[in-house]
Amino acid sequence: MGRTSTVAMNMNRVLPYDIPNDILKQERKMDVTTILALKEGSWPTIFVPEETLCNLCKAALGSARNHPRANSKCYLLTNGNPYHPVEIKVKVCPNKVCKAMHQVWPIKLDLFNICDKALVALEVLLELRELFNKGVPISSAIEAKLTAWTKRLDKAQQLSFGQQKYLQHLLYNGFYCWEIMTERSMNNGICGIIGQFYLGDGNQKNCCSLKGVNHNVKEHTSKESPVPLESFLDLVKKDWIERITFRMQLMFLL
Ligand SMILES: [Zn+2]
Repeated sequence: MGRTSTVAMNMNRVLPYDIPNDILKQERKMDVTTILALKEGSWPTIFVPEETLCNLCKAALGSARNHPRANSKCYLLTNGNPYHPVEIKVKVCPNKVCKAMHQVWPIKLDLFNICDKALVALEVLLELRELFNKGVPISSAIEAKLTAWTKRLDKAQQLSFGQQKYLQHLLYNGFYCWEIMTERSMNNGICGIIGQFYLGDGNQKNCCSLKGVNHNVKEHTSKESPVPLESFLDLVKKDWIERITFRMQLMFLL
């Protein structure tokens, strides 16, 4: 699988700040239809990338397969159908120079793909954004959401503590990736440092108390000019895209 080509391809993806209302409505309809177990209009059980040709080199893509690191169940995370099991496939470009991995991108269905492991409703990410803007640490908002969903399920359907924790970490990375892929005005800032970078978890107090940040004023007042904002944001976007594409070590701050 071509790591560089896959990231380069995904860097072109940009999401609107405001999610169109018809997309949100469509998702709610599918949620209700699935709850009622109707044949028509329910959530698909298998999600397959719609591309037939490689987005980069135009080679014909082969058949869909599991994510190379897939080893467990995948879930739909919507308000109506949390933890609903689904299959999420990928298609890999056969061109040896390219090998870009194409993933499902069901934004029109109000879903955001995290690591081919979870498809979370944009409606849920919007709720998290509002809580985050009110100063709730994003890790707390996510944990509360997943716990509330778990409590609605029968005992037999409930996820183990480890599975729930894993999804919590995925959603944490997914939330930040969704935000960095979203077009926005510069009124919403990202606080952190690049390299091994750190992000404030929800509000100014949490941000300034991050233990990982070791800011040395002398060290950071070199003669070199600062990194342009656009380049900094591109670096942040690239890093988060890698995290939600390849299931690399999850970044999670408590
Ligand atoms: Zn290709």
